[in-house]
Amino acid sequence: MRTRFAPSPTGMLHIGGLRTALFAYLVAKQTDGTFILRIEDTDRERTVDGAIENILRTLHWAGVDPDEGVMLRDGLVTQEGAHGPYIQSERFELYTKYANELVEKGHAYYAFDTKEDLDHMRETESAAGNAAPKYDASVRMRMKNSLTLPEEEWKQKMAENEPYVIRMLIPEGNIIRFNDDIRGKVEFKGMEIDDQILIKSDGFPTYHLANVVDDHLMDINIVIRGEEWLSSTPKHLLLFEYFGWQAPRYAHVPLLLNADRSKLSKRQNDVAAEDYINKGYLPEALINFLVLLGWNPGSTQELFTMKELIENFSLERVQKGGAVFDLERLNWFQGQWMRYFSPEDFAARIQPIVATVYEEAASDPQFVLRASLIQDRITFFPEAPAMLSYYYSEPKANMELIASPKQKLDEVLAKEVIELLIEKLTPFEGWTDDGLKEYLFALADEKELKKGQLLWPLRAILTGLPFSPGAFEVAAALGKEKTMQRLNAVKNTL
Ligand code: GLU
Repeated sequence: MRTRFAPSPTGMLHIGGLRTALFAYLVAKQTDGTFILRIEDTDRERTVDGAIENILRTLHWAGVDPDEGVMLRDGLVTQEGAHGPYIQSERFELYTKYANELVEKGHAYYAFDTKEDLDHMRETESAAGNAAPKYDASVRMRMKNSLTLPEEEWKQKMAENEPYVIRMLIPEGNIIRFNDDIRGKVEFKGMEIDDQILIKSDGFPTYHLANVVDDHLMDINIVIRGEEWLSSTPKHLLLFEYFGWQAPRYAHVPLLLNADRSKLSKRQNDVAAEDYINKGYLPEALINFLVLLGWNPGSTQELFTMKELIENFSLERVQKGGAVFDLERLNWFQGQWMRYFSPEDFAARIQPIVATVYEEAASDPQFVLRASLIQDRITFFPEAPAMLSYYYSEPKANMELIASPKQKLDEVLAKEVIELLIEKLTPFEGWTDDGLKEYLFALADEKELKKGQLLWPLRAILTGLPFSPGAFEVAAALGKEKTMQRLNAVKNTL
């Protein structure tokens, strides 16, 4: 299969766009096919500088790299493949040629109507009770175009450079039916469609023309795109018919919705994929979450690697209805993926982040062990430096934290416990997680202390944090020397 993602570079990649790209990528990959990236920048006014880079970088981050078309190589935007150029603004002459071909075949025509002419048509139509006036078969013959004007006259207008557009001729009463790979049978009546402009008065093509010409020339077998394009599909199918080309299959992916089932919007959610990158989401988590927005795997499996998605994904199991974007579910996937890595892999991912705050972490021989202790607790990588801070900097002694009433401690008891810990740990030899646990549990029993009364002050002194891994784990990962130093330092301040 040759599939494509064809974004318009009007801003940062939308989260829904990323999901559409993912679906198209998966369909290509599972058939050993080709995933193509094409840039649809026919609307020059809406084109934003840097948008192409943003789209490509985001796709790359997500692991959804194109095989052909526009791509990044060494951080630079390039184009690769035999069907290029893949940026529509570099193909403009081509579209005019095809539009003229349709005029010759009688499937399109030149229209010279001014803005006033069009306004006038709409007013008269409204006044006559037409609720949705448009340039179609019902008015076409009253307008200024190459179907109504004598040939000499319209040729003259063209020779005098009078502005004109090329419009597609939509037959009256035509019914367009097609089978959508997701939505099943879809039907449109010809009267619902206007005589779409194919070439604008500035000579630039519209989305519809460029999209069809390119899907044909780039040998796309299946067009996978957002549901918002469904209403354009009849125009596209007619164009394929007019050109005498075999149309691709179409699959329209359901919309993403806010919790209140309105269309996903900035006001209720982050909509740029980059927002999720910046917040520290893992590509694995975001991809896993996005693919299940609409796709039902038909099993109870929830975690999918990209490889598993390539094996399992199918458009037939994508629902028609909109899919609610549930941030809590995304966070759940984030947590699951954080735990999914091996300790070594996890440590390797966070080490550079921790090292930006604590240089020493870069060469810490204990880093894997220390990192492994937070793997079950962390949600986002950027939390790692703060969660590991106590290995690389001295925590401030905080009596309020140490003498926690929740742990049935007050300052007097806390002081006694600290002294007891120093006395008993100084000669202690079996300095491991398990060794410390056994030893300190026995000590608590012997002194008739609750476990928390003994362990909380130790943990609080070693970390300075309200939450952290348990006392034994931290003491073992920190080492005896530092543990004793910290206990003594606190004792001296009392
Ligand atoms: N350029 C359109 C977009 O920005 C592409 C629609 C399509 O895939 O046909 O979504």
